[in-house]
Amino acid sequence: MTKRIAIVHKERCNPQGCGGYLCMKVCPSNRAGLKCKEVDTDGKIKINEELCTSGCAICAQKCPFDAIQMINLPEHLTENPIHRYGQNKFVLYNLPTPRFGAVLGILGRNGMGKSTAVKIFARILEPNLGEYNSPGGASYSKILEYFKGSEAQKFFQQLHDGKIKTSYKPQHVDTLRTAPGAVQELLLKVDQRGAFDETVNALDLKSVLTSDITTLSGGELQRVAIAATALKKAELYIFDEPTSYLDIKQRFKTAQYLTSLANENTSVIIVEHDLVILDYLTDLINILYGEEGAYGIVSLPKNSKEGINQYLEGFMPDENMRFRDHSIKFDVKPPAATSKSPELISWKGVKKELGHFTLHAHEGTLKKKEVVGVLGENGTGKTTFANILAGIHTPEEGTLGVIGEKTKIAYKPQYIESTEQTVMEILGPHHATYQSQLRRLNIQQLMLRKLSELSGGELQRVMIAATLCKDADLYIFDEPSAYLDSEQRIHASKTIRESMNQREKTALVVDHDLLFLDYLSDRLIVLQGEPGKKGNVQGPYSMEEGMNKFLQSVGITLRRDPHTKRPRMNKLHSQLDKEQKAKGKYYYE
Ligand code: SF4
Repeated sequence: MTKRIAIVHKERCNPQGCGGYLCMKVCPSNRAGLKCKEVDTDGKIKINEELCTSGCAICAQKCPFDAIQMINLPEHLTENPIHRYGQNKFVLYNLPTPRFGAVLGILGRNGMGKSTAVKIFARILEPNLGEYNSPGGASYSKILEYFKGSEAQKFFQQLHDGKIKTSYKPQHVDTLRTAPGAVQELLLKVDQRGAFDETVNALDLKSVLTSDITTLSGGELQRVAIAATALKKAELYIFDEPTSYLDIKQRFKTAQYLTSLANENTSVIIVEHDLVILDYLTDLINILYGEEGAYGIVSLPKNSKEGINQYLEGFMPDENMRFRDHSIKFDVKPPAATSKSPELISWKGVKKELGHFTLHAHEGTLKKKEVVGVLGENGTGKTTFANILAGIHTPEEGTLGVIGEKTKIAYKPQYIESTEQTVMEILGPHHATYQSQLRRLNIQQLMLRKLSELSGGELQRVMIAATLCKDADLYIFDEPSAYLDSEQRIHASKTIRESMNQREKTALVVDHDLLFLDYLSDRLIVLQGEPGKKGNVQGPYSMEEGMNKFLQSVGITLRRDPHTKRPRMNKLHSQLDKEQKAKGKYYYE
């Protein structure tokens, strides 16, 4: 019999709004006198999955707030879950399999249980094997029985016996700010491995050692959190989203450092959405698939290249499992044909001073009907330049030329304010016009929610949509990939790209995800300089010239995967890395 689960999103359930428990009234089982749907102690609905036998899903279709999901689980799923958060709540099946001497990546969309899985390894969450009424999780003998005969059994036995200690960097690093003190003090306190100097060097932390934790930027705080996790003595190191807030150079250096943590006595688990980095730093991948916020299933382990390709394909041949109805391909774009397009906006000899920082932009032009990517290290003025074009900063020197009427600009800033407005209100009246262009952002279900109730990824998708709903000539997006999972990043890049194509408009996109920028940009602006002191805006260049320039400055070479055409980073000092560097071909084209 098909296994079925019912999910109730309590935060959306609004019995007054639906006219009084509409789902109970339309449920055939309830109408037949059974208590399939009941009013829970909190006044919201609860569903008895055992009594929901027909699988009609009428309740889910009728609920005006999309509060119910009725899900038929894949037929091959015969085992019990490893954890369920409660009745009608998220459920996770299986766990990733860490190996000594290897870096294991967990790849999947947001809301599939990646953080749940790593919290189980970190012993922050005791798995309950689906018995959500047992406080404190299931007994260890039951957990070992669950994994009997698998690689995980030995691992869990050792975890339980205290032979495997874990060190865990959570997804959100802001909590570190609640413990003031100098960075050096904090790191020396946790340095059980005697690796302080090596770690500080590898993660470029020298300049912030005397700074107070509370004053650090997001990128600095992330690197301190990684260092604090890696300095502890442990057999299993877990890093949940280690590259958030980091620029490409920092991502690359961090990836090299994290790979060095795995040896015959240690294992490393990474949750990461930047596919180029995930590919670079992991040996193995577990794919997590399922339905957002409802259930997640952990696949068998695969080597990284195959795992990422299977993820993009949406099909795992070794498990005969299709988890997406379409594959994601990266077309090799011909060089952009924008050279003949008229100019939209230009700049010459621009200088802007902000405190101790000075930005120079020599000379450049954005043309109509093009997408220009912006790459540069943190602190070299990417956001300052975007703010100058958006009219938020006025330069002290130089000219900003505008063709024709004053150029209308729509701007998505890096930091998004979450307010009490609803998604519908923030999207404004043009939403209906652009509905088909925005479908990939998947925000339809969020329309009645307030911005303050959204997750980071939901808020980012809504703000990309809100920017695209504005009537403008130039659309500026500052770090649109932040908080998005790898699939959402691909959808967001396609949405921006296609919207500009269809409307014949111009976009400027500042980001740190190479795959994201590679997919959507026609040309590239490169910022170089001294982080925090000075920045130089160079370009726009052709993709090849801009990428070569930028990649050379950070010492990275790229190649294309022949099957999916996705960019892959060459291992430092590998044969290909050396060959491409000798030819000056840091970018593959
Ligand atoms: Fe009403 Fe939907 Fe809640 Fe049922 S789940 S009570 S239909 S809002």
